[in-house]
Amino acid sequence: MKLSDLPEHWDLIVIGGGITGAAVLLEAARRGVRTLLLEGRDFAWGTSSRSSKLVHGGLRYLRQGRLALTRTAVRARETLLARVPGLVDPLPFFVPLYRGRPPGRTALRIGLNIYDLIAGRRTHRYLSRAAFIDTFPGLGTDALLGAYRFEDAQTDDARLVLRLIQAAGTFGGLALNYSRVETVARHHTGRVATLKVRDREVGIEREFRAGAVINATGVLAGQFGPLPRAKWHLRPLRGSHLVIPARILPLPAAVSFAHPEDHRGVFALPWEKAVLVGTTDLDHRQDLDSEPRANRAEIAYLLAAINHLAPGGAIGVDDILSIQTGVRPVVGRGDRPPSDESRQHVVWADNGLVTVTGGKLTTFQRLARDALAAAAPWLPPASRRRSVWTALAPGHIDAEQAPGLDAPARRRLAGRYGAAALDMVENAAPADLSPVASTATLWAELAHGARREQVRHLTDLMLRRVRLGLLLPEGGRDALPDIRRLCQPLLGWDDARWQTEEAAYLAYWRRYCRPG
Ligand SMILES: Cc1cc2nc3c(=O)[nH]c(=O)nc-3n(C[C@H](O)[C@H](O)[C@H](O)COP(=O)(O)OP(=O)(O)OC[C@H]3O[C@@H](n4cnc5c(N)ncnc54)[C@H](O)[C@@H]3O)c2cc1C
Repeated sequence: MKLSDLPEHWDLIVIGGGITGAAVLLEAARRGVRTLLLEGRDFAWGTSSRSSKLVHGGLRYLRQGRLALTRTAVRARETLLARVPGLVDPLPFFVPLYRGRPPGRTALRIGLNIYDLIAGRRTHRYLSRAAFIDTFPGLGTDALLGAYRFEDAQTDDARLVLRLIQAAGTFGGLALNYSRVETVARHHTGRVATLKVRDREVGIEREFRAGAVINATGVLAGQFGPLPRAKWHLRPLRGSHLVIPARILPLPAAVSFAHPEDHRGVFALPWEKAVLVGTTDLDHRQDLDSEPRANRAEIAYLLAAINHLAPGGAIGVDDILSIQTGVRPVVGRGDRPPSDESRQHVVWADNGLVTVTGGKLTTFQRLARDALAAAAPWLPPASRRRSVWTALAPGHIDAEQAPGLDAPARRRLAGRYGAAALDMVENAAPADLSPVASTATLWAELAHGARREQVRHLTDLMLRRVRLGLLLPEGGRDALPDIRRLCQPLLGWDDARWQTEEAAYLAYWRRYCRPG
């Protein structure tokens, strides 16, 4: 599908293809609203591929007294765990308690009781020192008293965005990447009229008309008009993660602990057969419309955290597989420490242009509903209300249909790709149903991405359709010849194009994802 092929008139145009835009697209399309989503770069290019990948209530928001946010998020977590297994999966968390250091046992117990009460199920329990050491033999034991265990959930954030877009497609919702909205023009009445959209790379420009426009551009939410209230400040806060190999720090579950320098909560968690360590929280003063980058101090801070947790390991820069940095779209007061700013979303409407920003990956449905409620005066009434969960339901792959795949791999494909999972398996050569190196990613997923998922550049494929660029040493450079053999024909690229893409991808990786 190309920008030039699309109709000019729409009920609703959504600007931004992160989790918020994708959720609005899905919610609007299921109501029968003719909706087009336009993403200026790639789907999930922004913060939505750079989060901590947690679908969580945010225990720390409880400590800050933000009960409403925690309640919305915990309920969203419970719904997603029940409805999209394989895409959102349970993640046990452990919080070790050390003598003389936060968090205190009583405060944590109270918080966990409230957390479980909201979820309507008890997930937490106390473990003795010996039981914690048994579960995590490589971690430090100095002043260790015991630990609490509770349950949250995790996902692959970029795949979650792509899944929502795919599901919206089943209701007729359309999404196009590399289509940047340059301007939103208004009638003399002030009402939103036309959008000028450009695909800079191929030099196409189009105008579209829509009854309503929802601006879901995350940290760039202010680009089509200022925030309406003087006390609201869009405060971009940068957060970085390290990805380290599981062989260096094998973790059966997530561990949350206080950083030794400033006592902020940090974590190390298993993700895609590697370990994700995060995160920092700093005012982001780089250009908002370009790739965010971690600085040396952030990398040192995260290494200090992990070496404090696992003091015997002496984990250094050379052990890091990749770095991932995102910018939180926080609407706050601007006068608090970054981690104390509210993660609540805000929505405002201005004559047909609704802006939604802030919030969490976890609460995407709530953001979408609130944005659509604000856009209702300019939208046609819902002509139908089909179930989001039917469209998002996991696919089904029998053991006989994919004899080479074990149950976790079948669950993964079914959850991430829905009905397309079976198609992927049936179209794959038996060898492509094996994982790439030591990751959980199957070769068939690369082929599926290349064939079906609007891949324009190799970075789209390596960093967002699959996450090999974060999970393999040197961004997966050694695997590129095999990836080329499989994907180049499916992408329809000639040799010169592949070489250009490969050089651009590796240069990108060295600049933004390489440690040190
Ligand atoms: C370090 C970090 C960790 C986090 N961890 C978690 C977590 O574990 N769990 C959780 O629930 N939340 C987490 N969050 C928060 C969550 O990631 C964000 O709230 C969420 O991803 C924001 O999504 P969005 O769609 O609003 O913005 P984005 O994902 O940034 O999407 C906005 C999109 O708009 C596009 N765009 C901008 N301008 C235009 C234009 N003119 N035309 C077309 N497109 C345009 C951009 O290219 C971008 O893709 C984390 C955030 C960070 C930074």
